[in-house]
Formats: sequence, structure tokens, C-alpha cells
Amino acid sequence: MNMNNQAIIPPGSTIGIIGGGQLGRMTAVAAAELGYKTHIFTPEQNSPASQVAEQTTVAPYDDASALKKFADNVDVITFEFENVPAASVKLLTEIKPVRPGWQCLEIAQDRIREKTFAESLGIKTAPWAEVSSIDELTAAVKNIGTPAILKTTRLGYDGKGQVRINPGDDAGQAWAELGSDAAILEGFVDFQLEVSVISARAIDGKMESFDVVQNHHINGILDTTIAPADISDELRTRAIETAEKMATAMGLVGLLAVEMFIRPDGDILINEMAPRPHNSGHWTQDGCTTSQFEQFVRAVCGLSLGSPERHSDAVMKNLIGKDADDWEKIISDGENKLHLYGKAEARPGRKMGHINRLYKKGSGPKV
Ligand code: AMP
Repeated sequence: MNMNNQAIIPPGSTIGIIGGGQLGRMTAVAAAELGYKTHIFTPEQNSPASQVAEQTTVAPYDDASALKKFADNVDVITFEFENVPAASVKLLTEIKPVRPGWQCLEIAQDRIREKTFAESLGIKTAPWAEVSSIDELTAAVKNIGTPAILKTTRLGYDGKGQVRINPGDDAGQAWAELGSDAAILEGFVDFQLEVSVISARAIDGKMESFDVVQNHHINGILDTTIAPADISDELRTRAIETAEKMATAMGLVGLLAVEMFIRPDGDILINEMAPRPHNSGHWTQDGCTTSQFEQFVRAVCGLSLGSPERHSDAVMKNLIGKDADDWEKIISDGENKLHLYGKAEARPGRKMGHINRLYKKGSGPKV
């Protein structure tokens, strides 16, 4: 029996969250504010999410008996991490409502499916080719040209699983460096700015989207998000329509974050998407009537959506690695809203927390 029905999961129920990272942690806090309990499933001991959840199951994502027991003990299941094996999601779906459903995770897990899906809706992406051997890579480099980026089709995040190929570079070396035979080559997009849209879709198909924001990456990792993006109303509308079109087409119940490149001529290209809260939506915790985490909980539990209205301009700055060691200085400025994830070890490149800063609507920084 498919349990992914129309049921409303009322406050007091338990939300099962697959994944124990900071997204799960902030979802669990938002869930608690609405009177829900959370149960985290993660392979990691002492995960950021488990520190604030009522229960945690520590087991690998393919441990069928642990998954079954977890599903038996929750009322609805969602994901803060989408790279979960198909068989595990199938098993969970047979026991409890899983939102968003497998079809959304499957598309988001794999760059080829993601791009094919976007293109099937008439949405543009960077030029790309599937490559599974050095010969295919050589042919793709010839076709697409350089600069280009070689990416693993799965499990890439924060710039990991990517190798840039510049004019004159040796494709063989890039292939060896990537170390995977499931890859795509993407043409390098000469973008004017990177933006993202987070849309929520309720169980009855109603949608609400947060304002379009501008993202600045350093070494492939999100550094800063500026809300709102400094773009025309026409582009803003088109970016939101793009994300909502994708959410509708995949029958999503939950949140869809879509990263986009905007070209100087106003063309919008999809980079990637995630069916869950997203780092570029952390500003909503302090800048909007409803945060992305509350909105996620509302959608997943079959409740009506909250207003995504932006009451302030906002800048979100990630605290990466040792950045968070400065917490005392950060917090001594009363305008800084500090959010820390409870991670013990500040490894380089690891997201440890973020700062939100609010500005009067219309007066925030533009860059
Ligand atoms: P990704 O993991 O695919 O989101 O890539 C991380 C970051 O690398 C993006 O946010 C961009 O800043 C940059 N990037 C990725 N793919 C491309 C591309 N095809 N063209 C230009 N920049 C890219």
C-alpha cells in the first residue's frame, strides 16, 4: 500500500527526518515551535539535528530493519539530505507518508536526470554531455569547449566532485582527478549573477515562493546570500515561475530550492535544485514572516502554507571552518543574528553556522 496519501499530520505528531545535518537541526527547531516532535535518522553520532530532536536512530541509510523501526515510530517522513538509496525510500513509503515523494528525490539525486527534467519543461541549463570514459570526455571537451566543469553525476555538494577544465588543460588529468566514471561535462556559464528561489508546495498544490536572492560562492561553497537579488521585476517573476513550474511538474510536496544562473542578456539557466530547505534560504529565519524551515514543516505535514513575505532586506553570511571561532566578536554586535550548528570540529570547508543581518526594506546592500 502506498502511504503517501493526503493525510494531515497534526501538531503533537512526530516528523521523521532522514539526515542529521544543520538543515535537519533547524527543521527540528521549527517543528518544535509548531508543537511537533522529531525523530532523526542518521549514520552520524551526535549529529547537529539529533542535539535538538526528541529521538535519533543512528544507522546506515540502507539498514532495512532500522529504517522499518524508524518508520513505525513516526507519523510522516521527510529528508534534509536527498542522497538516500531508492530501496530505502521505497521501504519507508510502504509504511508511512513520505514527503516529498521518491520521484522528486530521484530527479534531484542525479545531475543528468535533473538537467533532462528541466529541459523537458523548456527550462535552459548549461550545455552538458554525459561522460563515462576518457574518450567520451575528450569528445565532449571538443564539442562543448573550454572552460568547462567536469562533475560527478551524484553526491556532489559544496564544490566537491568537480574539476574545472581550462583551455589547454589535459582532459586525462581532469578525468583522473575526478576519479568517477559517472560524470557530466558542463560548459562554463558566463553568468552575470547567481540567484536562487525557494518555493513551497502544499499537499493541495498551492504554492508560495520566497523572494529571489543573490548568491556569492567562494571555492564552490556558498559564502553570502543577499535578499532580495538586485534584478528587475520581470526577471524576478520569471525566476519564481521557473521554480514553481518545476515543483508542480514533479508533484512536489515540501520545498524546492532552485539555483539559477542569470546571463547578461537576461537568460535564466538552471544550475541545480534540492527538494528541501537550502543554505540560500537561511536569511528567511530572520527576514520573513515564515522561515523556510517552518514552511517546510507546514508543507510536509499537510498544513496550509505561511506567508513568505520579506519584511526586511537581509544578508546571510556563512561561517565556514574556523570562522565560527569568532563567535564572541560576532555576537558582541547586537545587529548580528548568530546561528550555530553545534558541530564540535571546525574542519576547513565545513559549514559551522551563519549570521543573518537585517536592513530596512529597500536599504540593504546590493552587491
Ligand atoms: P554546484 O555544486 O553545481 O552548485 O556548483 C557550485 C558553484 O560552482 C556554483 O554555484 C557556481 O558558482 C559554480 N559553477 C558550477 N557549475 C558552473 C557552470 N556550469 N558555469 C559556471 N559556474 C559554475
